Amino acid sequence: MKPKSIIVLGAGISGLATASLVAKAGHHVTLIEGSSWIGGKSKRIIVDGQRMDTGPALVTFLGVWEEFIRRYDLLGNQNKKAIEIAPITFEPLSEVGEYFYKGEKCLLPVEKGNKWYEPWVRFEKIHGKLGKEITTLLTNTSISLKAIPAGNKLISNYGIRFTTKRYLNGLKWLPEGLKEIISIHTLNAGVGPEKTLALFATIPAVMATQQVRVPVGGVNEIPLTLEKLARYAGVEIVMNEKAIAISKNKVTTEVREYQADIIISSLDAKVTQRLLGKTTNETNRKMSCSGVAIYAVLDEDLPINTKTHSVIMPEDPAAMHTALGKNQLPKESMVFVNYYQAGHIYPNNKSTVAVLITAPADGKHYSIESDFAKAELERVSKVMGLPKNIKEYFGAFEVLDPEYFSGWGATGGALYGEARKIWQSGPLHTPKHSSFLRPWLWRVGASTHPGGGIPAVLGGSLIATKKLLRHLGK
Ligand SMILES: Cc1cc2nc3c(=O)[nH]c(=O)nc-3n(C[C@H](O)[C@H](O)[C@H](O)COP(=O)(O)OP(=O)(O)OC[C@H]3O[C@@H](n4cnc5c(N)ncnc54)[C@H](O)[C@@H]3O)c2cc1C
Repeated sequence: MKPKSIIVLGAGISGLATASLVAKAGHHVTLIEGSSWIGGKSKRIIVDGQRMDTGPALVTFLGVWEEFIRRYDLLGNQNKKAIEIAPITFEPLSEVGEYFYKGEKCLLPVEKGNKWYEPWVRFEKIHGKLGKEITTLLTNTSISLKAIPAGNKLISNYGIRFTTKRYLNGLKWLPEGLKEIISIHTLNAGVGPEKTLALFATIPAVMATQQVRVPVGGVNEIPLTLEKLARYAGVEIVMNEKAIAISKNKVTTEVREYQADIIISSLDAKVTQRLLGKTTNETNRKMSCSGVAIYAVLDEDLPINTKTHSVIMPEDPAAMHTALGKNQLPKESMVFVNYYQAGHIYPNNKSTVAVLITAPADGKHYSIESDFAKAELERVSKVMGLPKNIKEYFGAFEVLDPEYFSGWGATGGALYGEARKIWQSGPLHTPKHSSFLRPWLWRVGASTHPGGGIPAVLGGSLIATKKLLRHLGK
């Protein structure tokens, strides 16, 4: 195969993964990143000398990462294996999280002695074992010989109950509270349970069965590992150069012009369209959710029984989804509280907490004194049974808000871009990585693959790269 010159736009997880694979296969790859950091949504910050990795907090479907490493090692003829170039260790957490809903609380998997234990065990028995099938779908195009039986096996569980909401409503034996706790995970696609496929009901059970993981050192170790693999494969990484236009065989950045046989964009779909010179209609677009994320170093540890990950649900999840769907502030939202004691995961000597408040993709600036954040921090403190407002534990902190996320991502700071059609909400459809009209332009990342999250964007990169390498080989 004659090596081609390829430009990848964006050094988030999908851009780095794609660049590594394509370069490993022997092509000349330049990766262009507009900002000053590696990782895109996964960004490492240092606050008061303590490390905190912002953006993604949990790694699920580890099999997708393992498949990426397997394919990386198979490509090319360099000697070193990925594990020698950039070792990474994933630490399993003992629970997915502790969930608080309407005065009830439970762990996932639900702990013995909890009133929801029996129904949870029944639910997990049906769904927890389907991780292999979902991983197959995440890493293979849905019309492939491997994916079809995996898809059929999954679909046979749901029958005609097409959406997460309808499927769970049909399980009369599942308590309402537990249904809501399972449903809240559709926010991993940035939308409500009536807008996602039934498959999303399976995901929390798989997460509980397979355990969720965090890389030792923090989630940003994933893009940093990918960066090392990319550089080893020969990728040239150009930082701080925003692409401002793309056309056939040409990328124009704020600094210069690049020629390439193939351009691969890992940028939001609408951002890519604008780079192509197309006008995009920004009114009446349904976006996925955004977030107000507070990263704080603690002056005092949280109470001893606080779990690593807590999920504080709104009293009325449907009202929250409706408000987010209209791009309005919900009365109460869904909040993650990620608590790392000094020395756990991060090499820190002080404990830290990340409070991630789900917010509409309104592109606005929020501080912890904004009415919305203030009310949610108060509610979270009360629901978790903290002796005082969580704010009073904070020392130095930083806030990332929809304004920050919109600075280099989707409109309004939507974490998963535009809300998709329901059949695009899971790995059961074939995303468009390239088109007949523009065979020189390929797309990877959250802009093409359903939902979002590390497994979805990594899996999307695997699928797209396989197709691209086949195309270049012809
Ligand atoms: C708060 C939060 C919590 C999350 N929690 C989880 C979680 O727990 N688990 C999980 O699996 N996933 C989680 N996710 C989702 C996960 O982070 C994303 O799905 C994933 O990181 C997306 O990677 P990407 O490469 O597709 O996109 P991005 O990370 O958005 O990368 C795109 C890159 O393109 C660059 N760029 C943009 N415009 C230009 C331009 N014009 N020129 C050059 N470069 C440009 C950007 O700077 C960026 O580096 C979370 C996300 C957020 C924000």
